[in-house]
Amino acid sequence: MTDSPQFTNRKIVLAQRPKGMPTLDDFRLEEEPLPALEPGQVVVGTEYISIDAFIRTALEEGSYHQNVPVGGVVSGLGVGRILASEEPERKVGEAVFSPFGAQTHVIAPGAMMQPLDETIAPAKARLGVLGMTTGLTAWMGIHVVGEVKQGQTVLVSAAAGAVGSVAAQLAKIAGARVIGLAGGPDKVAFLTDDLGLDAAIDYKREDVDARLRELAPDGIDVYFDNVGGEILDIVLDQIKERARVVICGAISQYQNMGEVRGPSLYLRLAERQARMEGFAVTHFEDRFPEAEADLAGHLEAGRLKLREQVVEGIERFPEALITLFEGGNTGKMLVRV
Ligand code: NDP
Repeated sequence: MTDSPQFTNRKIVLAQRPKGMPTLDDFRLEEEPLPALEPGQVVVGTEYISIDAFIRTALEEGSYHQNVPVGGVVSGLGVGRILASEEPERKVGEAVFSPFGAQTHVIAPGAMMQPLDETIAPAKARLGVLGMTTGLTAWMGIHVVGEVKQGQTVLVSAAAGAVGSVAAQLAKIAGARVIGLAGGPDKVAFLTDDLGLDAAIDYKREDVDARLRELAPDGIDVYFDNVGGEILDIVLDQIKERARVVICGAISQYQNMGEVRGPSLYLRLAERQARMEGFAVTHFEDRFPEAEADLAGHLEAGRLKLREQVVEGIERFPEALITLFEGGNTGKMLVRV
């Protein structure tokens, strides 16, 4: 052990398991002094934390994503900077990926830290356009699972969100005609005016079934679904022969994982020789370098953008998480620590 500077960690812990939509009472802010560093360890000061839908499911007992124990630090992917180091390979000031949860500081073995190249994009882009749970997820869903091709009609749900807005733009870049689903007129305007989608539907105010029949009378080739539930059935009824339905997520169902609503019109898959395929981005780790290079190229060329919505302060992490499930975000939701 050495005389490294003393840091105080502020962390968001799970106070109780949420029932349905999380509330602020489900979380608690705690403070703790960090111990001195052991050889090989580093202290990372978190700069940004990604607000992801999986954080909600990780709050459930026995979740697919490793579940957070009551009293434990809430999950979260972050980027930060090394503040002190007892690992010769990791230098103070280096930017690193820090998947250690909703906390301001973390002590971990330096060897576990993934240094980030800040010449390509700022470190926080590793949570957004170039991040596993946003850019890489969108890329895998559009290119690997959806196999989107020029001239196809692609529909994306939660299209004004982080994954959805990148997925929609990637489909446009691939030469598809892209329709987005989003909640509210501002989001619809964002999709058509800012992102250049061919059309957008406000699913909260419009008749999705009727609008889709108008906008895509020949049907949907690829549905990139982030939402699940009722809209999935509406779309299944309007898929083309040999369509692909990409199950990226089902955010409408995450508050009630014990009774997920499945599609009742799944026989359309058989009738139209179509395919519905789900994925987790981690299934495609071997393709991450290719996806990162492609996304970075689009970013540099100005073909791809991701709006950010930044909430200030670790104490507002629970509020940011709830906002995501209330549809209060456009683009990538981040907490600046
Ligand atoms: P977003 O930035 O898209 O935010 C979530 C959005 O979902 C909200 O803004 C809201 O948009 C919409 N939404 C929330 N609740 C509902 C509801 N009940 N019904 C319909 N829409 C709703 O989040 P992410 O980009 O982080 O995640 C998008 C999806 O991608 C999620 O389903 C997530 O689980 C999935 N995902 C999958 C991964 C994988 O490996 N397969 C990895 C990462 C994410 P609106 O206002 O338009 O309703």
